[in-house]
Amino acid sequence: MISTASVPFPNRTDVIIIGGGPAGMSAALVLGRARRSVLLIDEALPRNRVTRESHGFLTRDGIEPFELRRIAREQIAAYPSVQFVQGAVLKAEGSDGDFQITTAEGEIYLCRKLLFAVGMKDLPMNIEGLESVYGKSAYVCPYCDGWEMQDRAIAIIAEGKHALHLVRTVAGWTDDLALFSSGDTLSDEEKEELRIRNIPLYESPVRQIFSEEGETKAIRLEDGTEIARSAIFFAPHLAPGSDVPAVLGCEAMESGAMIVDEMGHSSVAGVFGAGDGASQKYQLSLAVAAGSMAGVGINVELLESDWQQKIHI
Ligand SMILES: Cc1cc2nc3c(=O)[nH]c(=O)nc-3n(C[C@H](O)[C@H](O)[C@H](O)COP(=O)(O)OP(=O)(O)OC[C@H]3O[C@@H](n4cnc5c(N)ncnc54)[C@H](O)[C@@H]3O)c2cc1C
Repeated sequence: MISTASVPFPNRTDVIIIGGGPAGMSAALVLGRARRSVLLIDEALPRNRVTRESHGFLTRDGIEPFELRRIAREQIAAYPSVQFVQGAVLKAEGSDGDFQITTAEGEIYLCRKLLFAVGMKDLPMNIEGLESVYGKSAYVCPYCDGWEMQDRAIAIIAEGKHALHLVRTVAGWTDDLALFSSGDTLSDEEKEELRIRNIPLYESPVRQIFSEEGETKAIRLEDGTEIARSAIFFAPHLAPGSDVPAVLGCEAMESGAMIVDEMGHSSVAGVFGAGDGASQKYQLSLAVAAGSMAGVGINVELLESDWQQKIHI
């Protein structure tokens, strides 16, 4: 295990944060400033590591994802009660006020409150060549990367209810669209919506993406057809960054993300969630905001508990 701790750190902290992305570090900043002892454990495998630039986050438009993390860590370093450890949390046990965390490296840490900021992860992609263009000319969120792909010949790869929604959204960034949606999951009305706008629909499954240095060139279908395209937006298949919250008993949405309230409380006392892994909307600014709220939510509970301990009669 690599610890960045420069001073001996207690094995039992007020809070353990699992996940050191924008959500986890935003919570760490709030809690550090509230003089809480915090251990942040991060595997450092965020979903957006495939992309070269992050967009739309005020004052940081176009920043490289790990540069944003570096700046955050540099600023949090001003608060010595926050320490970082690189590692993967495998297990969480215990109850409110008394949790125990075990990492893949066999380290055990204790804390009063737990925050999961574990993000989401992409499930394996079953289209040959998609990983080579992901984050370079294939994206999942037009608000994040639509500007850079504007006016290109864009392929939308999506099925079911997401398909037409994604087409209609990306239509704000280009007039040259084609939908690749296998399995005949579109209704006749949806197909008609595409037809009257001259948006081609390909229903044979996508088998391969041809590209050069990350730039999409063409899409090959199962029936052998090849269609020239220069960018892709697709609906990814996702799972939570970690299954530890589910094992602890935290209620989850259909996507597997934790169900939390505005202050990050999960259905399990003392366990909080923030960021993509506790949301249906994936944006840096929202993850930062959720982490901040969870930091406050955690501190409110700790303040209350400490306040009760101060009674001397
Ligand atoms: C390709 C792509 C491009 C994007 N571009 C943009 C953009 O331009 N603008 C924008 O606003 N948003 C963008 N996003 C979305 C943005 O990246 C996320 O909303 C944001 O990173 C979520 O932050 P988070 O802290 O919740 O999760 P993450 O950033 O995913 O961080 C979660 C962290 O938790 C760690 N972790 C998970 N499980 C464990 C465990 N068991 N133990 C220890 N650590 C663990 C992970 O390794 C990771 O480091 C993009 C996403 C993708 C996939």
